[in-house]
Amino acid sequence: MRGRAGRYPWSIFLRDFGTYFAYGKNYASLSPPKSREFIGFSDIYSRFPAQGWRAAQGARQGMTARVLVVDDSLPNRKLLEARLQDEYFEVAGAASGAEAITLAQRWSPDIILLDVLMPGMDGFEACRRLKAQLSTAHIPVVMVTSLNDQGERVRGLDAGADDFLVKPVDQATLFARLRALLRVKQVLDAWRLRAETVRDLGFEPPSAPPEDFEGAKVLLLSHDASEATTLSRALQADGMALEQFSDEKLVWQKLQDPAAHYDLVLNSLPMPGGDPLRLASRLRAEAETRDLPLMLIANAEQRELVLRAFELGASDHVLRPINEEELRARVRNQVRRRRYQLRLRAEFDRSLELAVTDGLTGLRNRRYVVRHLESLLRDGAACGVLMIDVDRFKPLNDYYGHAAGDAALREVAARLREHVRASDIVARYGGEEFLVVMSGAGIEETGVIAERLRSAIGNSPIDLGQAKLPVTVSIGSALSAVSADAAALIAAADAAMYRAKSLGRNRVEAATNQDWRLA
Ligand SMILES: [Mg+2]
Repeated sequence: MRGRAGRYPWSIFLRDFGTYFAYGKNYASLSPPKSREFIGFSDIYSRFPAQGWRAAQGARQGMTARVLVVDDSLPNRKLLEARLQDEYFEVAGAASGAEAITLAQRWSPDIILLDVLMPGMDGFEACRRLKAQLSTAHIPVVMVTSLNDQGERVRGLDAGADDFLVKPVDQATLFARLRALLRVKQVLDAWRLRAETVRDLGFEPPSAPPEDFEGAKVLLLSHDASEATTLSRALQADGMALEQFSDEKLVWQKLQDPAAHYDLVLNSLPMPGGDPLRLASRLRAEAETRDLPLMLIANAEQRELVLRAFELGASDHVLRPINEEELRARVRNQVRRRRYQLRLRAEFDRSLELAVTDGLTGLRNRRYVVRHLESLLRDGAACGVLMIDVDRFKPLNDYYGHAAGDAALREVAARLREHVRASDIVARYGGEEFLVVMSGAGIEETGVIAERLRSAIGNSPIDLGQAKLPVTVSIGSALSAVSADAAALIAAADAAMYRAKSLGRNRVEAATNQDWRLA
């Protein structure tokens, strides 16, 4: 831990010049490292909330987030780079908008600090292009301006910028904002990664998010009714609805209501009868609200409080007097990000469902049931396994056609599902083969359930429309008490099932020593 916070950065200034002269003109073209080890900020940060950022940094042991610093002025780049490296960030520099776009694609930074005034392509244009291409759109962009001009901020927000810093960059503000943005990006990255995994399994990636804020819901915690009216009117222009509360307890009730679906929480400081920092940390701690953005409305002199809130999980802030354009642009940014994240998650859930489900019967598929069995056995759980095969299915399929065959399989699947216990997993294992995994089932229970399934299928014919057809199944069972190896267990049940077939079909056979040997 280096603990230099609060000291006047003369040492940084001197060292910067040292670095500047050491690198000379090669500085700007420092080649980016080839491999990366990125451990999510929020991951680590949430594990060390009390010790704070520096302790978390220590725990990271050199693993870092990447920051791309874009500025046409070399001394400016040097200064930012030195400060960032001092906090263990991995840094690369770019001297122009074009260079920034190339590096953003090749180096995959976690955040981009972008100068506004640059010859050729300016910061606004560079930001627009970064946000327009799929490979870089998710990277947070912080614009660094020399003017604290609201008009310029709104221009930047419209270009897709996530935040602003004014030169000379204040150290505490810089790191508070970086942490807040990196936390958000880390959550998005986790979902993007999962979406990619699912894509590898052959499913469609999520489409580009529609730019629509209609119906977005914003919860405002404030005791200032006239400010609430102003805010509400401003957000209505983007189709958003604002609900004002002045009681923290009530806010928690609303937030935990699963039907509420808020897109953003606005907290107007000073917070009525409560602690804004407690609100921020509680939002991040509870599962229902962990990813819900929090934005603060504050006076300039409440800066310390705002910085602390960023550390605890606030996402953005607006200073009074409130400029409506800026407020709307910042709120749109938060809501856009929130909705993108929700879509990634929904997409992931849907793809996951498809990835583990058999399309014909709606049962779990083979991939899922094998994994399930393996993890049960790994946990040392006792279980029974049933291999179920439809008798004389091929002649049925050939005679009545595939549509009838499919209908028969669906009906068998439905009856199986209806007659197992809630905790059992029924899966389609192959063409006309089903596998049932019964957690916690011993020899007796396994026998009883197997018999129940056999009679549920064989005792009443299946209605195929053109005919009512008697369908039977042969079942083999095996117990984890004999072997805790998933493949061996399935093979023994399979061998027992073939024995049931050879003994006349429509019957249940438990695996014998002979079956285990065959397995
Ligand atoms: Mg410049």
